[in-house]
Amino acid sequence: MRIGFTRSIIATALVLSAGPLLRPACAQGASAGSSVDTAYGAVLTNPKVIKTLEDIKADDANSFAEQKRITEIPAPPYKEKVRAEYYLKRFQELGFKDAVIDSEGNVIALRKGSGGGRPKLVVSAHLDTVFPEGTDVAVKEKDGVTLAPGIGDDSRGLAALLSLIKSINANEIATVGDVMFVGTVGEEELGNLRGVKALFRDHADIDGFISIDGLGITRVVNQATGSHRYEMIFKGPGGHSFQEFGLPSAIHAMGRAIAKISELQTPSDPKTTFTVGTVSGGTSVNAIAAEARMAVDMRSDSTDELLKLEARLLDLVKQAVVEENARWKSDKLAVEIKLIGDRPAGIVAMDSPIVQATQRAVATITRAPRVTFAGSSTDSNLAMSLGIPAVTIGGGGEGGNWHSRNEWYRPVDAYYGPQNALLTILVLSGLEGVTKPALQVRPGK
Ligand SMILES: [Zn+2]
Repeated sequence: MRIGFTRSIIATALVLSAGPLLRPACAQGASAGSSVDTAYGAVLTNPKVIKTLEDIKADDANSFAEQKRITEIPAPPYKEKVRAEYYLKRFQELGFKDAVIDSEGNVIALRKGSGGGRPKLVVSAHLDTVFPEGTDVAVKEKDGVTLAPGIGDDSRGLAALLSLIKSINANEIATVGDVMFVGTVGEEELGNLRGVKALFRDHADIDGFISIDGLGITRVVNQATGSHRYEMIFKGPGGHSFQEFGLPSAIHAMGRAIAKISELQTPSDPKTTFTVGTVSGGTSVNAIAAEARMAVDMRSDSTDELLKLEARLLDLVKQAVVEENARWKSDKLAVEIKLIGDRPAGIVAMDSPIVQATQRAVATITRAPRVTFAGSSTDSNLAMSLGIPAVTIGGGGEGGNWHSRNEWYRPVDAYYGPQNALLTILVLSGLEGVTKPALQVRPGK
């Protein structure tokens, strides 16, 4: 099987260099495309690369065992430390003696290239899960699938990254650009991307960013869905429903606000959405509510549309308060508006080298030209919002029930994940003595 695989890689390389078959209609920018094509031709016929691809495949079972080990180390939001320490130890065991945990909690290993530090490409997976402390994270097998909270998201990405590192280090693969491997904290909701926010604050010279998150490798994320989330707390005097009738009600005001919000119209392209996700408030059926709270989620693939929606929605909430006060000729009711989530939106052009490189890597590994580009909310959001080329790619395998305690995973062709990352990295960072980096150094940084 190994030999067969190697041949098919080379055969695909020939197909790639032959041209348009693997270039979808939406890809523009022949120059980035063709330089990436040329690089692939050279990378895919390199004996060290072929051996590394084989080693990644051979490491598949070991990588799955690692994935399960990582899953069983709890990593609740803001409490990733134990898992981070384990990941640091693994980085060190794989040869990165200088690997560190930074001030935010990210685990970082720098693999130097021959090009004096640039371009610098980050390849990452996230350490945190959505599950609170005390969640049973024991891995279980049932009906041919593996079940555990976080088994895929993002234990697969973390394990895929380790398998990749192990194989490139064992084969002494040398790149031109520097590659920075990172286990990030704070990717999931409550973390608000705090890990990557710190990473880009501390390292202004990052030229490209790859996150391994999600599973299927034919789906590549090159758009960042932005989101803003608010908690709104309506507060009034409160009082007895009969004796003090005539006072404004926090619940009534919130009801007015929700009615207005539900009538908002948003574009389907760029997709822009909103919902009042949770409500709570009041103390008793016979009391005018003194307090009511709701949490609102707004998302868009465009920053402009997100900001427009946000402005309208906040306005409606304030209007609702004015109307509730006016209804009772009062000024006692107010609303406190708190931003609780902020993820920037962004997009990476189809003709940018990072998208082109990923597209060709996926096509090569899966031996099929089909790649779906999509929007999502991942660590790449931050890079995209800063104008830094970024993609989020799958770690390999199949799974589902994300963010639930019944999350499941099946390691079907899981090695595709790290193989895909390997090819993408080599083309972007350049294979020493063979190709130049396709990733551009960001000017002035
Ligand atoms: Zn994730």
